[in-house]
Amino acid sequence: MQPTQERILPLLPLRGILIFPYMVIHLDVGREKSVQAIEEAMLKERAIFLATQKDAQNDDPTEEDIYSVGAVAEVKQLLKLPGGTIRVLVEGIARAKIKEYTSHTPYFVVKIEQYDETETKNAQVEALMRNLVSQFEQYVKLSKKIPPETVVTVINIEEPGRLADIVASHLTLRIEDKQAILEAVDTVPRLEKLCAIMARELEIVELERKINVRVRKQMEKTQKEYYLREQIKAIQRELGEKEDRIAEGEELREKIEQAKLPKEVEEKALKELERLEKMPPMAAEGTVVRNYLDWLLALPWSKGTRDRLDINKAQQILNADHYGLDLVKERILEYLAIRKLAKKMKGPIICFVGPPGVGKTSLGRSIARALERKFVRLSLGGVRDEAEIRGHRRTYVGAMPGRILQGMKTAGSKNPVFLLDEVDKMSMDFRGDPSSALLEVLDPEQNFSFSDHYIEAPYDLSNVMFITTANVQQNIPRPLQDRMEIIYIPGYTEEEKVQIAIRHLVPKQIKEHGLNNKMIQIPEKAVRRIIREYTRESGVRNLERNIASLCRKAAKQIVAGKTKLVRVNAQKLEQFLGKPRFRYGTAELEDQVGIATGLAWTEVGGETLQVEVSTYKGTGKLTLTGKLGDVMKESAQASYSYVRSRAAELGIKQNMFEKYDLHIHVPEGAIPKDGPSAGITMATALASALTGRQIRHDLAMTGEITLRGRVLPIGGVKEKVLAAHRAGIKTVLLPMDNSKDTEEIPANVKKQLELVLVDHMDEVLNVALRETKIASRTAVIEPPPEVTPEITYGPVVETEGGPELPNENNYS
Ligand code: ADP
Repeated sequence: MQPTQERILPLLPLRGILIFPYMVIHLDVGREKSVQAIEEAMLKERAIFLATQKDAQNDDPTEEDIYSVGAVAEVKQLLKLPGGTIRVLVEGIARAKIKEYTSHTPYFVVKIEQYDETETKNAQVEALMRNLVSQFEQYVKLSKKIPPETVVTVINIEEPGRLADIVASHLTLRIEDKQAILEAVDTVPRLEKLCAIMARELEIVELERKINVRVRKQMEKTQKEYYLREQIKAIQRELGEKEDRIAEGEELREKIEQAKLPKEVEEKALKELERLEKMPPMAAEGTVVRNYLDWLLALPWSKGTRDRLDINKAQQILNADHYGLDLVKERILEYLAIRKLAKKMKGPIICFVGPPGVGKTSLGRSIARALERKFVRLSLGGVRDEAEIRGHRRTYVGAMPGRILQGMKTAGSKNPVFLLDEVDKMSMDFRGDPSSALLEVLDPEQNFSFSDHYIEAPYDLSNVMFITTANVQQNIPRPLQDRMEIIYIPGYTEEEKVQIAIRHLVPKQIKEHGLNNKMIQIPEKAVRRIIREYTRESGVRNLERNIASLCRKAAKQIVAGKTKLVRVNAQKLEQFLGKPRFRYGTAELEDQVGIATGLAWTEVGGETLQVEVSTYKGTGKLTLTGKLGDVMKESAQASYSYVRSRAAELGIKQNMFEKYDLHIHVPEGAIPKDGPSAGITMATALASALTGRQIRHDLAMTGEITLRGRVLPIGGVKEKVLAAHRAGIKTVLLPMDNSKDTEEIPANVKKQLELVLVDHMDEVLNVALRETKIASRTAVIEPPPEVTPEITYGPVVETEGGPELPNENNYS
């Protein structure tokens, strides 16, 4: 397009703004130079040239700092503001380009070429116009910065140049872009440029919108959540729950802080508490965490009792609680003495071994009393799962700590006396070996940091005084045995039992039943009868039970008003306890052929036992009955072989062994019968049956036999001798090698019994068999209807066994 005219006009440099033709705008003019330019313009047809500064910050621009293309404008209004500033209302008229600066001071005067719009329309222009209008419409819709009415105005513009300028004036563009449009003097390039810029702007606006939407959505979501949470809180508050929970949390926190937990445990507890507080109130896991915290708080981590390490006092207490047991008490006092000297002794753990009812548990209790410690008892009988000792992991439903820590909770002190009962009754299976866990409990090198699966924090057991008990030493797992100091409590004599009953059991039971000496009297005679006829045991458990039974029955009579005082005499005894259950003195009343008395040792103490042999016409078979164990059967064979080899010396004709069958029977099915120690008894019974010589009825024996007739030592001497004494036996034959064991036998028993130590079977027979023979010895007994089991002979190898130790279920 060609310039339409040339003019000389004052120049007003614009800062940060650009004026298009047709645009009406207010300008505040402050710069001195600019004010003068306006004033000049007012004199010259109100016309002024407006061009934009390239840098808005420049206060004193030169020619180069001002774009050369600008707009000729008419000053419509002029308002002088206080402070010298002028507010003008200008309207753009036409594009113009600076040809030259004619003056720089006091204001710029420029010579310009003005381009008045000549609107020509063709198809291309029309298309560009439509495009621009639709873009503008969209832009308005999206950007929301322009009032929608503008669109109506814009649609109605017919002139392409004007359309472009008006649209451009409405857009928020960078000055450079606007300048570029201003500089496009021809309509088509102007439209095209604007369309391109519009397209770009639209994209940006669209993007902005998308970002906006996303931001809003995000905000809405957070707001919504916040709002909902606030509502829940309000509801909880309404229901009174929130306060409860806050109170619960605070209470727990306070408890944790006061519990004096080890640092590590306290941290763990607080962490769990935080977790609990974050959980919704009804969450199932909440209970699990709460339980866990309760357990942590219930365990005695730091609380303990002060030991009373006064030996004299301890002795008093032990004596007051238990009769006899002098050796045991002595050992306990020694143990306590050492504990006093070496404060933290890592010594062995005491293990009381003995039959039931001899006071193992109550000794433990006494020790606790002597030391003024708390006492807990845990029975390990039947424990077969490691988890019972060590607990289950918390992930299991209903998990709990193991029994050790449960015991500690019950004790409520970190240093109780902890009695582990029946360590020999633990068993092991696929669920793990409880003894290995127990080892960690008992080992002083490890037990300061005992790990329980549930608690998950190390617990210090090193202050606990562990005591264990067992019936049979052999059944205690080996590694545990190595850490224990075994103290045997072998069982009581009748005399001891009487004393225990009179001094302890009777007064204790009378008191426990709310009676006193004026209401019930149990004389020594009655006690002795209970011991002899109502019990057969090594300990005093059944004795105590029977006394309790007497007290119960007496209490009933007194309460029923039948009597004021119950004297337990012979008649009352039978009335209260029923008929005697045992025959006192099971010794045979007269000498007999083929019946010998042996001595057995079982878990519950000693027993007497008869061995019967009978002979009858047959083919030389040997029959064994009485549910004998394998070892005992072999022992029977050995004794048979011995008797047969000594037939000549004993005066037995060899054909006896071919023409007669022999039957060995051991009655009393309730006693488990195994082990080799009935060897000499069976040999004696056999010899008697075959020779017809009677066996002394007041004599009992025990010992293993070899094929050559040597007598080997056996176990459980004290129990066996006590059993013989109970049974009214006068002479007991024991293997010579057991002589050292006879020291254990109480003196009063030794006084009433003759102990004969033997080395060889010949000596046994010398003492046991009478000279008198019974002529009709073989004819008296008819053969039994059924013969089982039949033993056929093979060569028997002689074994020289070492001293046999007591074993569970052994008949020895
Ligand atoms: P264990 O644990 O060995 O099976 P307990 O300790 O349960 O035996 O003893 C059973 C009962 O016998 C307890 O009441 C106990 O007080 C009593 N007792 C055992 N021995 C004696 C004793 N020597 N003196 C006093 N009482 C005893």
